[in-house]
Amino acid sequence: MAAPGSVQKGDEEWRAILSPEQFRILRQKGTEYPGTGEYVNFDKEGIYGCGGCNAPLYKSTTKFNAGCGWPAFFEGIPGAITRTTDPDGRRTEINCATCGGHLGHVFKGEGFATPTDERHCVNSVSLKFTPATSSFSSLSVVVMADPVSEWRAVLSPEQFRILRQKGTETPGTGVYDKFFEEGIFSCVGCKTPLYKSTTKFDAGCGWPAFFEGLPGAINRTPDPDGRRTEITCAVCDGHLGHVHKGEGYATPTDERHCVNSVSINFNPAKPSSVT
Ligand SMILES: [Zn+2]
Ligand SMILES: [Zn+2]
Repeated sequence: MAAPGSVQKGDEEWRAILSPEQFRILRQKGTEYPGTGEYVNFDKEGIYGCGGCNAPLYKSTTKFNAGCGWPAFFEGIPGAITRTTDPDGRRTEINCATCGGHLGHVFKGEGFATPTDERHCVNSVSLKFTPATSSFSSLSVVVMADPVSEWRAVLSPEQFRILRQKGTETPGTGVYDKFFEEGIFSCVGCKTPLYKSTTKFDAGCGWPAFFEGLPGAINRTPDPDGRRTEITCAVCDGHLGHVHKGEGYATPTDERHCVNSVSINFNPAKPSSVT
């Protein structure tokens, strides 16, 4: 799970990955029309993640029918939600702790027969539901009982060897080595966006190379031998490759994120998101 505040993007980056309605609500604190959201009358078992960054926010076992026209939960997943008093002092806004996305408001003491007597009143648009029985997504990282066998169940053997066992693909063989279409590269393990195609360059090294990752998406750890710096997905810890600095490439950062094609998935830019 990502650390609080670990996903930070500018408006332009959010607009590229959110629908206009998601942007209006998550980033501009809008409210969906009551009774219209897809999760208002919805009681399947699973996890609700953030519509912006996929961080797990609510379990379906804490959802209840408040009859208010928006999805209602009596508590969030520990550490997932932050609270801020509205400027007028009347209501308490709730946000995703990972990306700051606006979720809705929380109300206390209304007399609902729940363990907390709180009502998290959340816009459906701010949420993304993952069924308990579905194939893997980032949302289940937080509820994995047996990570090794669960990763094996959802990754191919080659993906498992590279992402979970820090393997390396044979140079020159990866599907994204010589690949320069416009879009976003995301983690193949958990779908978190990692790199924009505009930061990809041809390093001639046999692996996809990027000069920088999306803010907060990549963690760096020195290898045990102190020689190289490993890069991993900040959300699921999947191994991506290594980052090298000062090699003299004519890029804005003089860094080369050397990433296994197997670790990433390409999502083409949507024409509608180009504004
Ligand atoms: Zn979020
Ligand atoms: Zn990941």
